[in-house]
Amino acid sequence: MNIKKIFLIFSLLLIFPFDQALALTKYNLPAISQIKAIKSNASIDELIDLLPEDANIVDPYLFLVNPSNPNNNQVDVDLVTSIEGIPYAASIEEKLNQMLQAGLENDYQFTIISGYRSTDQQAGLESSRKQALMAVGYSESEAIHLTNLYTAPANATEHMTGLAIDILGQDWTSIGGGLTENYSESGSAQWLEENAAKYGFILRYPQNKSEITTFNFEPWHFRYVGQLNAQFIMEHGLTLEEYLALIEERDKREKSEKIRQAAKNQAVNEAREWLEEQKKTIDELFNNESFNKKDHD
Ligand SMILES: [Zn+2]
Repeated sequence: MNIKKIFLIFSLLLIFPFDQALALTKYNLPAISQIKAIKSNASIDELIDLLPEDANIVDPYLFLVNPSNPNNNQVDVDLVTSIEGIPYAASIEEKLNQMLQAGLENDYQFTIISGYRSTDQQAGLESSRKQALMAVGYSESEAIHLTNLYTAPANATEHMTGLAIDILGQDWTSIGGGLTENYSESGSAQWLEENAAKYGFILRYPQNKSEITTFNFEPWHFRYVGQLNAQFIMEHGLTLEEYLALIEERDKREKSEKIRQAAKNQAVNEAREWLEEQKKTIDELFNNESFNKKDHD
């Protein structure tokens, strides 16, 4: 049947780009029921309605690397180096510099502690942290557990993307502060949390989100995701994992709506076809009748 073939081609055209997008990512994401906008308290439906139109699951700036989505391939990153000698992705240089400049204008000077790390470097870091803990008396399994709270396995750290930086303010480092949770009490950490999104950065491992991110609160770890994405994530109190799950849910809903529409169109076409057949039958009947009439005359 022609109409059915046309319908099939039409449906494939609609469905294919979404399937292709989903096939490219295949992230392991939190269930939609786990998503919680801890700042805005917006519902899932509201969040999906409010999502930036351009939010795209295959956006390279939303590239997800975490323990549920490890990446065993070395990521190819164009690197630049900060004044501290820390490498990070060249693609975020301009925005990072703008953020550092804005910090200075507010009397916060920042130091970049860490940026891009190759898988090998991360493996080295993991093992040295574990060894240090064992040296002070922890068992191997305790040392591994403690290390994993702050140090991602080599194939699960987003530092490999070059889009993540560990950053501390001088108000904190000058009093001997390091990469610890109470950095969040300092003015510079609070300024960063409030302003990073304007430059496309998010606080990647927020407080009360450990179940989603599998990382403890890291007030020093910021991740570039692009300005619109960052503003949405920070305004609602979400994580990158939840944001991607929302985009995936939106795409699923749009896809099923398109299929529903296409099915509706098919029903309309079938009804039209049926009506045309009926019309033909009636016309034939009418023609026969008038023919018969003529016979009688
Ligand atoms: Zn980090």
